[in-house]
Order: sequence, then structure tokens, then C-alpha cells
Amino acid sequence: MTTEEKQATYNFKTEVKQVLQILVHSLYKDRDIFVRELVSNASDALTRFHFESLTNREVLDPDVELAIHIDVVETEEGEPKKIIIKDSGIGMTEEELIRNLGTIAQSGAREFLAKMSEGDINPGDVIGQFGVGFYSVFMVSDEVRVVSRSYQPDAEAAAWISDGSESFRIEPAEKSDRGTEIHIVLKKDAEEFANEWKLRQIVKKHSDFVRYPVYVGETQANQQESLWRKSPSDVDAEEYKSFYQQMTMDFEEPLAAIHFTTDAPVHLRALLFIPAKREPSILALRKEPGVMLYSHNVLIQEYCTDLLPTWLSFVDGVVDSEDLPLNVSRETVQNNRLMMQLGKMIRKRILRELKTMSEKEPEKYEQFWQENGRSLKEGLATDPTAKEDVQPFFRYYSSKSDNKLTSLDEYIERMPETQEEIYYVLGDNKTTVANSPHLDPFKAQDLEVLYWVDPLDVLIAPGMMEYQDKKFRNIDDAGLELPDVEAEDTTEDTKPAIEEADFNRLVGKFVTTLGDKVVEVRESKVLKNSPVRLVYPQDAPNREMQRLYRMMDQEYEVPKLIFELNRSHPLLVNLAELVEENADSELVTLSIEQLYDSALVQEGLHPNPTAMLPRIEQLMLLAAKADVKQDS
Ligand code: ADP
Ligand code: MG
Repeated sequence: MTTEEKQATYNFKTEVKQVLQILVHSLYKDRDIFVRELVSNASDALTRFHFESLTNREVLDPDVELAIHIDVVETEEGEPKKIIIKDSGIGMTEEELIRNLGTIAQSGAREFLAKMSEGDINPGDVIGQFGVGFYSVFMVSDEVRVVSRSYQPDAEAAAWISDGSESFRIEPAEKSDRGTEIHIVLKKDAEEFANEWKLRQIVKKHSDFVRYPVYVGETQANQQESLWRKSPSDVDAEEYKSFYQQMTMDFEEPLAAIHFTTDAPVHLRALLFIPAKREPSILALRKEPGVMLYSHNVLIQEYCTDLLPTWLSFVDGVVDSEDLPLNVSRETVQNNRLMMQLGKMIRKRILRELKTMSEKEPEKYEQFWQENGRSLKEGLATDPTAKEDVQPFFRYYSSKSDNKLTSLDEYIERMPETQEEIYYVLGDNKTTVANSPHLDPFKAQDLEVLYWVDPLDVLIAPGMMEYQDKKFRNIDDAGLELPDVEAEDTTEDTKPAIEEADFNRLVGKFVTTLGDKVVEVRESKVLKNSPVRLVYPQDAPNREMQRLYRMMDQEYEVPKLIFELNRSHPLLVNLAELVEENADSELVTLSIEQLYDSALVQEGLHPNPTAMLPRIEQLMLLAAKADVKQDS
């Protein structure tokens, strides 16, 4: 069988063709990123080989150096110039060449195209994020030959050849050693890349921290530096940023870099980052949570999740300890006492960093909280050891916070001496809870109440328990007694209260109208400006869960609550008069029903607020009629 016979041609998928179109025509100044993309692929391939070789001895060339070579090929005058980028990584079989470089319609290609259509974006800035980086080589070439040989000892070498327009060709190839070579024939206008000096500059700029040596010609071009092994005082902010960006391909700056080293009781070098965004960009380099675990400068786990609790999994970076045995398997890593010790130290350090950030850079901390507050709250819900660690970091709006977030410590600092509990109110958002009738007595006595308006606040409310020996108290509790505070006289009685007999009649009317929707109707001892409120009978089960179900749009039961009436409120004073005149009046019935529904809305418990609209219209109609009558 001749080579000719084994050739096969494949068409690129439509999306890939479009990506190629864009790249071929993209800006001149972006083009050097093709080196970064190919080096990053080579580095991935080396890492994959490295992990394969930890458990598999049946590999081709086990002892070859893990490295990347970039070579300028000597060519005759007038011939097109060429470069070769070569790695000793995992390699690709013929099938893998076909699958990985062109036939599968990649979702990444589609996302890349969508991004480009937003306009005003340089392909080079984003291409690496979408899993289409390889194609950037066609920015500088219209003749690319990828020759690869898989690590599997019996696999044969194959070549992938394309001009980057419509299709590619696959054919057998000669290659005796493991890995991949990309032969790039440079376009006439890209000949500048056939220059070792220039290639070295590019590697230095974009790939300095690649963890394998990148040789340009005979010399290594990257520092390949384990930045984390340096002393923190020798590293500056720019280096941290650049290391982070090369490690993750996240183009944002990290919120914080945490770098520390210890030698006793264990050896530890760690360089950790708190990313600015919770979600990594779609196909960023670091695809999973977990930190990179090194020992003796050798990567032993790429995504180690055993060091930190899941609620700190937003942290990325490198942990290196020479006390870890090099040949650890996953299981031994997990059960290693040393790992527990390392984990504890790192956790403490991260929390300390966050604390400092919250004190020294409150705005940055707020950004962190908006992005990752959820994780810390989840920690409280899922990890029994987390409570004391995470609570100090929680932030809330409150009845006194004036649109700023407040911490629990600040809240406690503002508490009057006689106050023993931390008050909170649950609700859908801060505007609604700010109008909550439950706040009436607190406002009157100048007591601060925290607004718990995030669904997660509801979920973790039962687990909050106490903070600094102060219990948390939901202010919708029927039996809640306020501390003695010297505020303005709260018993001042300027408004006319309803007479005893009339009030009883009014309560009776509420009871018959609302039936078993409520467990009780009674006078409120605390309401000031609000006409009514719903309170929970003491020890009502499941109150947070029902609220949560509604927030999640699931079926839930409207809980049966106690309906409290403000005996001095003008609305109720008038309603009592109406009842006295005509207990069966439609206006009375509708008003009572509406008061109840409004209270449910206020509590964030109404299953379907729009159902109130016909009644509201009916009420307006009655009001208009009454108005007309008075006028005539
Ligand atoms: P990404 O690197 O984000 O997956 P690319 O377009 O850069 O996207 O590469 C596509 C795929 O081709 C890679 O996922 C990998 O499977 C394969 N590949 C590319 N370069 C190499 C290489 N040097 N060695 C082995 N496989 C490679
Ligand atoms: Mg890539």
C-alpha cells in the first residue's frame, strides 16, 4: 500500500471554517499569539503525558526530556521561511488528529464566533478561552503540517496537513519519537517570525511561566520559574499578575495574591490567588476547581481539591511541599496527615488575607463578597467546621446601614447595652423589608435590624445560631420582647384607639372573613405605622423552608400565621366604624381580604400576587362610587 492510497481528506466543520476566516483576516499586531497558543497546547500535552507516565510504564520514550522546542528551519534564498514547534508530550493518533483538529463541531468555535460578533474585539485577546487556539497558526501560515506520534508504544505516526481554508488531509508519517511537531510554512508577510530573537521575545512575554523548558534554538527562552519558590519579598505585583494570567488565561487581574512560605513544622510554599470573578471565562485554562499540588517542584496533582474545603474552592494557585512523597497516589494524598496539616495552614492564611482585605480595602472586599459570598454561606450550610470561620465575613444591609453593607461585628458594636440578640428580618429584597411592619417597634426604639434578603440567608438561617454569644432572632416572632431602651416614650397615645367592644367586633369580622387562613387574629402590642402584620406562632416548623420553596418557584404551602391588628391605625379605625354601620358591607370584606394578601406579599409569602388585581379594581370602584355619592 502506498502513501497515496492511505490519504484522506476531511472538510472542516462550518464553525471552524468561520473561525479560520476571521483569523486569516485578523489584525497584524495580534499575530504573535499563535506562539502562545501552540506552546500552551504543547504544555498541556506534556502535562497529560506526565500524568499518564505516573501510572503507566508502557509508554514510548519514557526517559525523553519533557520539553518544547521552537526551531527556525534553514531555508534557501527565495524559499518560504519555516518554523517548527515540537513537544515530547502525549502525542496524537491518526484518529485523534482528525477529531481534535477539525471535524468535531466545537461549541467553543461557536462561542468564539458569538464573542467576535460583539465587535471591537481582538481575536488574539480571547481566542485561547474558546478551545480554538490551535487555528491561530493560520494567522501566519497557509501551509501547516502537524506530525504526531502517540505515547502508546504500538501507535503509528500520522500527519495532518492543511492550508486553513476548507479542509485538511491525513496521511501516514515518519516519526520515531513521541510527541507532536507543528511545521509552519510562514506567509510572505509573516517572515518576521523566522527569527530566534523575535521568538524568544514572544515566549518571554506570553509563556514565561510555562512549566516545561521552552527552547528556541539551543537556548531556553522561558524562565520556567517556580515563582512560588521565591521569597515573597523578591516578587512584585506585576509578576504575580503575569503568573496568574499565564496560569489561568484569565485576563482579569486577580483580587489578591497570597504568597507565603514556611519551613517548620512542615515545608510549604504556596502562591494562591483570589480571582476577581466567580465564574472563569468559558474555556479558561484552569477548567476545574482545585489548586496545583507540587512536591520537589514536580506537579503531582493538577486539580487538588483535598487541601481546601469546597467553600474555598474559588481559590486557585500552587501549593508545593517537599514533605509530600513524590510517588503519591490520589488515595494517599487524600488520607495523608500532612495534607490535613497543609490544608489547615492554607485555610488560615486565606482567611487572614480576606480579613485584611475587608479592613484595609473595603471596596475590594465588597467586590469579593458579591462574587464569592455565596460560597462562604454554602460553607455554613454544608461544613460543620466552617461556622466560626465564615460568619465574620458575612455582610448585610440593615435598617441602619444606609445602603452600605455591614458586618456582624459592626452590628454588635452599635447595639445598645441592653440588647442581647441580633435581630434580622427575612424578605425578598431590601426595599420590601425596609417597609416591613415588623420593623415598627424597632424603628420606634432605634434598634437595628439586619436584612436577610438573599435566598441563601433563608437557607442558612437555622444554622446561624449565634455569633459572639448573641443569638439570632427573627423579628417576625410573636413572642419577641424588646429590650428596655430609653427611647422616646413609645406609649404616647396620640391616635384614637378603637373602643374595646368595637375592636372585638372588628376582630370577629376578620376571623369570619379569613377563616382558617390564619390561626388567630389579635391586637398587636408593637405596631406603630403599619395597620397589620403576620407573625409566626412560636415554634412554627419549617418557616424558612416554605419561604425558600416560594423563592425557588416550587410548590409550597402558605403557612398559617397569626394576624395582628394595630388598634390605633386610621385604616382600622375607619374599618371598625364601617363594621358597626354594616357588618356585611362588601367594602369591609374586600378590605380585610386585601389587608391579609398585602401582608403576605410583604412577608414574601404570597404565592401569586397578580391574583389580587381584580379585588383591587373592585375596591377602587367602590371608593370611586362613594366619592361620587359624597359630591352629589
Ligand atoms: P484547546 O487547547 O483549548 O483544547 P486548541 O484548538 O488549542 O484547543 O487544541 C485543540 C485540541 O487539539 C487540544 O484539545 C488537544 O486535544 C489537541 N492538541 C493540540 N495541540 C496538541 C499537541 N501539541 N499535542 C497533543 N494534542 C494537541
Ligand atoms: Mg489550546
